[in-house]
Amino acid sequence: MTMPTIVKVEIEGFTWDVKGLTHGRAYHYDPDSTLTRRAAGIRIYADNGAVGEYASWGTDPTAVAGMAERYLGENPLDRERFYQGIKASPVVAMYDIALWDLAGKMTGLPIHALIGTYRTKVPAYASTIDGAVKGPLSTPESYADFAEQCREMGYRGFKIHPFAWRDVRTHIDAVLALGRRVGGTMDLMLDSYCLYETFADALKVGRACDEAGFYWYEDPYSDGGITPFSHARLREMIRTPLLQGEKVSTVEQRMDLILQKATDFVRGDLRLHGLTGTLKLAHAAESVGMDIEPHSSGPEQLHFMAAVKNANYYEVVWVHPNVPDFAPPIYKNVNLTRLDCIDEGGMIAVPDGPGLGVEYDWDYISKHSTGKIECSA
Ligand SMILES: [Mg+2]
Repeated sequence: MTMPTIVKVEIEGFTWDVKGLTHGRAYHYDPDSTLTRRAAGIRIYADNGAVGEYASWGTDPTAVAGMAERYLGENPLDRERFYQGIKASPVVAMYDIALWDLAGKMTGLPIHALIGTYRTKVPAYASTIDGAVKGPLSTPESYADFAEQCREMGYRGFKIHPFAWRDVRTHIDAVLALGRRVGGTMDLMLDSYCLYETFADALKVGRACDEAGFYWYEDPYSDGGITPFSHARLREMIRTPLLQGEKVSTVEQRMDLILQKATDFVRGDLRLHGLTGTLKLAHAAESVGMDIEPHSSGPEQLHFMAAVKNANYYEVVWVHPNVPDFAPPIYKNVNLTRLDCIDEGGMIAVPDGPGLGVEYDWDYISKHSTGKIECSA
């Protein structure tokens, strides 16, 4: 059988404006501000006519173009070989996901069917923009108000990132306010993003999570999950499950966090290890009875979840009552990133067309282009 060959790679950088957003310690709501964000789209062409497509925010188009030589003239189905060369890289992950899309287009199958389908709908959680200094989500009670709004929409999971407040006491107040208002009816998560500076602060907030019955406590403090010992110790002192992994770079290090009893859930990063690497972590975690939770929103996360059993929630990331569009409007046929992307049961359907199943809006991307780079064999 003649194998296909990659003949051309096109990369297009683009920007979009998010009204009401500013960047401080992390993303914050500010009604007077507009933040211009950057992304890149990739199209990989094979000599059999199949085209793999993908777009992702936060990736530098020049760096993506700089990697094209590695793929040109090669078989687009050699995803495992490409992964084994460079295991943890946002640029390589972008190629990996686009190559899975290409394989789906070649066969006419959605990616989850290529891997082996487990389900075609998954539960989603609302993952909020960080606590702001004004407007909604600027007080502990306003987080509880938004959680109630999300619950009415159908959400069964709600996560806070209360970064804007430097005082740990305020974080504890937000955790307890959520527990009082929606505890027992929603799965509540806290992502401190490693911003608590001491183990003692992490422990204090963890005990509040226990009191409020939180579902997970993510990246508790500035150790960053790098010392498994400290998180194993934290796990002995609190009851709330920890979610770790986002801050260590490789699949192997994340598995070590599990094996050293430093976490209860492991983070899966499709945009760092691709679908190829994240599936390895999912299967390794499953073999020791652990769950993996995919990071961020997009079609790749949905196909991943559709093909594994041991993942609980799709993250609808960076939502806020007054910021409807954190992500760029790049899919013509589906809504995967807005707060209203779920059904009344809190579920989101996995796109069912070939490959990723999304139709990218290349007209929108070229209207907002920062430059297109073409690389040919
Ligand atoms: Mg996180």
